[in-house]
Amino acid sequence: MEVSHILSPLNDDQRNAVASPANNLLVLAGAGSGKTRVLVHRIAWLIQAENISPFAILAVTFTNKAAREMRGRIEEILGQPSSRMWVGTFHGLAHRLLRSHWREARLPQDFQILDADDQLRLIKRLLRSSNIDEERWPAKQCQWYINSQKDEGLRAKNVEHFEDEYTKTLLTIYKTYEDACERGGMIDFGEILLRAHELWLHNPEILEHYQKRFQFILVDEFQDTNSIQYAWLRVLAGNQNQMMVVGDDDQSIYGWRGAKIENIQKFNVDFPDADIVRLEQNYRSTSTILNAANKLISNNHSRLGKNLWTDGSEGEQISLYEAFNEQDEARFIVDRLQDWSNGGNHRSDSAILYRSNAQSRELEDALLRVGMPYVIYGGHRFYERLEIKNALAYLRLLVNRDDDTAIERIINIPTRGIGGRTIDMARSVARENNCSLWQACTKCINESILSSRATNALLAFMKLIDELDSASSNMELHQKAEHIIMQSGLIKHHEKEGGEKARSRIENLEELVTACGNFDDAELVAEEGKGIDLTAKDFLTAFLDQASLDSGDTQASENEDAVQLMTLHSAKGLEFNLVFLAGMEEGLFPHKMSMDNISGLEEERRLCYVGITRAKNKLYMSHAESRRLHGDVILCRPSRFINEIPQELVDEIRLKTTIRTAGSSKSKNSGSHLRVTGQIEVPQTELSLGQRVAHGKFGEGVVLNYEGQGNNARVQVNFDTSGSKWLVLSYAKLKPLS
Ligand code: ATP
Ligand code: MG
Repeated sequence: MEVSHILSPLNDDQRNAVASPANNLLVLAGAGSGKTRVLVHRIAWLIQAENISPFAILAVTFTNKAAREMRGRIEEILGQPSSRMWVGTFHGLAHRLLRSHWREARLPQDFQILDADDQLRLIKRLLRSSNIDEERWPAKQCQWYINSQKDEGLRAKNVEHFEDEYTKTLLTIYKTYEDACERGGMIDFGEILLRAHELWLHNPEILEHYQKRFQFILVDEFQDTNSIQYAWLRVLAGNQNQMMVVGDDDQSIYGWRGAKIENIQKFNVDFPDADIVRLEQNYRSTSTILNAANKLISNNHSRLGKNLWTDGSEGEQISLYEAFNEQDEARFIVDRLQDWSNGGNHRSDSAILYRSNAQSRELEDALLRVGMPYVIYGGHRFYERLEIKNALAYLRLLVNRDDDTAIERIINIPTRGIGGRTIDMARSVARENNCSLWQACTKCINESILSSRATNALLAFMKLIDELDSASSNMELHQKAEHIIMQSGLIKHHEKEGGEKARSRIENLEELVTACGNFDDAELVAEEGKGIDLTAKDFLTAFLDQASLDSGDTQASENEDAVQLMTLHSAKGLEFNLVFLAGMEEGLFPHKMSMDNISGLEEERRLCYVGITRAKNKLYMSHAESRRLHGDVILCRPSRFINEIPQELVDEIRLKTTIRTAGSSKSKNSGSHLRVTGQIEVPQTELSLGQRVAHGKFGEGVVLNYEGQGNNARVQVNFDTSGSKWLVLSYAKLKPLS
């Protein structure tokens, strides 16, 4: 059979790997060097050149999307469907095995899969029924504990016994949880892998069957496999089957979830005859981008080491933008994206990458403002997140006690002993009397319809809302939000959950305070300027309206050409022509939780390496001088990662805050200024961009931006103490300072 079409689109090293006679192969190579391509072509080679049946091939990748793409590519090369081949994620493949061999896996035929939320709810119920103090052993933490044991292949009975009460209790919970799952015929994600591994160990005849079948096992993103995944592969491979694993130690970014970079060394020990292939040519990025990535990662000590080069063009310098604050940063990015999109490029070929989900809100706001379609991967849009909806529900109740949806949402969040039956009762009273839930609750209390315990719980809730209202009635919007988030117990509620997810929920709540602080409604400000007295409630209502609008269905639809937003973690394996790395600041990236230990810091650096190497043609990095994050304005230092990139590869763009008197000399930095936002004049005033001004209420600040004309003209001022605000020019009465 003609096989040149398989080898011709490859370079020599890639070709050697694809057509290698070796039994086992380890392809260890940097980003964009064609690892995934080699893996795909190897499969095609095995089938067409070596005459291997697709039936004998098992390929594992990291995400379902990658698996679909991989199958598509193989079929494209082969020119025929290959349904008999197994291609999937670890979870997908293991699940398939368990469905076929449920009996041998000691599962009921109709076993149910618990997703992470189901799992958490089950653990909560078990804690309650076992009378375990949830303050000391938060459900989220128990879940974390159970999952990490499973990732290591350990059942409760295999965990070494610890004498301290804390771990002993965790272990008891694990055991109780195992029993409950067993009784209910349920398995969680970790269990899928563990069971599939045990299926091999306990059923030699089944193992033998699959060992005979899958003579060729191929694994992408090998650096991020955890212990149980590796063990599962290892057993399946046995002593006779061929393994090809491809990976990049510099892109190992899931250590915090149990991924083991040591698996690469383990592979070398387990398969000592394996050929090690190194690919050194990068086909993805310009040499500027590649050199930046190479230099950055060379600061890590624990690496296997490699050299990546490209004969591609040098490309543009990396643009570095130092923003005044996070809003300025978002606007800068969106301006660039508009230029890009107007230039006839696909928006879907651009991506904004960030370290923390909380950063997306400001970016989303800026995108929404100009109506640019976007999609967010692996995360909800800000105002649709559970914790934000909860906080907004409290704020809504302050404005309107009869908001039933809001009550339904938070009546028992955080848990305060108002059970399902109490709520049902309140609902039916509301129906009978055709009144709101709040009124129904009052009725339940006044007429002693409920047990005294339920009555007390309800009373406490209503009192809490009234107290929150009166205590915060005169506060400014962001103080109000902060007060409600703290005093409602929402922060504590998430603190108790523990774990990574809870931490990001708390960050998001703090980010909501920031959003309130930055909120400025042009109409309200105009009215205020006219001397109309506005109450704090007016601002709150306007804010809530804005939030509901934002959460409307403005996210791009499935097939719309949209900018891609995602965390750096979800960007693995992908590539885009235009990439923005936002929030390059110490504490944010590298993240403050990982800055203090070498291994944490090195994982952050690998994440940065992953981010930079997603870019094909153009990379922007940005950081802000000050950022309102988690409620406070903090002064930020640029990320150390910026300094690890050679200066000559970077072009600094900066809007300087130079002072000029109107109509006279030009801003000192008008050159770079032009490139940033275009030459913007502030007409009919004595103001210019960068001008220092004073405002009656907000104090002194610097003019950042300008938009609209005549009576609608607005300026954005970055005030020294109250942050950045948009003001209607004709009302703001700004006084230019010299
Ligand atoms: P990552 O580490 O990010 O997963 P990778 O090593 O898997 O990257 P690929 O995604 O396989 O790299 O390849 C990167 C890009 O380079 C792709 O667009 C791919 O099509 C292209 N490419 C790879 N090898 C060649 C080649 N020999 N000729 C032309 N293009 C190539
Ligand atoms: Mg890849």
